[in-house]
Amino acid sequence: MISQDMMGLGKKRSTIREIFEYGNARAKIVGRENVFDFSLGNPNVPAPSVLTEELKGFIDAEAADALHGYTSATGIEWVRESMAESLNSRFGTKFSKDNFYMTCGAAASICIVLKAIACPGDEFVVPAPFFPEYRCWIENTVNGKCVIVPARTEDFQINFEAFEASINENTKAVIINTPNNPCGAVYSEETIIKLSEILKAAQKKYGHAIYLISDEPYREIVFDGLKIPFVTKYYDNTFVCYSFSKSLSLPGERIGYVLVPDEMEDSKDVYAAVCGAGRVLGYVCAPSLFQRVVGKCSILTSDITVYETNRKLLYDGLINAGFSCVKPQGTFYMFPRSLEADEYAFCERAKKYDLLLVPGTDFGCPGHVRIAYCVKTETIERALPLFDKLAKEYK
Ligand code: PLP
Repeated sequence: MISQDMMGLGKKRSTIREIFEYGNARAKIVGRENVFDFSLGNPNVPAPSVLTEELKGFIDAEAADALHGYTSATGIEWVRESMAESLNSRFGTKFSKDNFYMTCGAAASICIVLKAIACPGDEFVVPAPFFPEYRCWIENTVNGKCVIVPARTEDFQINFEAFEASINENTKAVIINTPNNPCGAVYSEETIIKLSEILKAAQKKYGHAIYLISDEPYREIVFDGLKIPFVTKYYDNTFVCYSFSKSLSLPGERIGYVLVPDEMEDSKDVYAAVCGAGRVLGYVCAPSLFQRVVGKCSILTSDITVYETNRKLLYDGLINAGFSCVKPQGTFYMFPRSLEADEYAFCERAKKYDLLLVPGTDFGCPGHVRIAYCVKTETIERALPLFDKLAKEYK
């Protein structure tokens, strides 16, 4: 006998992966360049050349530095110092190396945090739209209850009325993701302040910590010079789950961190629980080579101007074609309304033009579709007339 739940998860691919595989199959028939695959959030911009040079430097110096050896479970000391300095210099925080636990990307960071805090009967609140794996991790990694807060679709800030109604004595944490996958919205300072006030009041009412898990893989990918509020400055019981997958275009290298601020209640014990969770989940010692590489490049990003160019082109093109869409302020995703109520039917129709879009229901927000525009600008230029044709079918 094996776990039926795990077998079920293994047999059923995520919708996004399903569409991605469909695209690969279509590419064999019509040619790769004729498939407009907007399904996957795989950065198309290369990692910065400085990063490549650092990587080569580490490889050349291998013998001197036990490059491929185990590191300490929490991560290399100077790398964690670099993580602290990078945030302190940009956000005016006062972190030290002891606040950081290096991990295999945001996925590992979130699973570790959930495992570190979850107790039987706990509920985890997730404002929509949200990254679909949250539900999978909450339900399967810690047997928790995932409570979805419906989206505020006019601007994709938080629907606070529904949010407040979703908090109760069993609430252990809230997971937020800003800049947001799938809609590209960035929570304003006003939103973060209001969220913090509600959580502070709820902690007082229920007499226990309610954690904020801030999932931030897109933190640096913001447009129009926008400054994002750094969440630990507003709410003490905040975990930051970070990843270099998107900011440095390193998704396959699996590198990121969990940040446990000193301001968190019983922070030393919580940090110990994070270490325990890393151990139990088998995530000790994040990839050694890429710990070093991000340690040297922690304030760099890939060339995000490409995403800004793509955003403008795609957004203007979709609006001209008759779509309605909240303009993304960051990430490389756009989340327009579907042109028919059933967005699955809409995505099927889009496939006629080899436009591969992801239905919003998976993100907790039916009636919308996600377009991942981390593709060549030329791909968007060639796709726009097809979006236009698709829209004309509904006129
Ligand atoms: N959280 C969000 C919102 C994401 O979009 C992703 C990946 O696309 C992840 C977490 C997982 O990131 P990682 O590849 O660093 O594990």
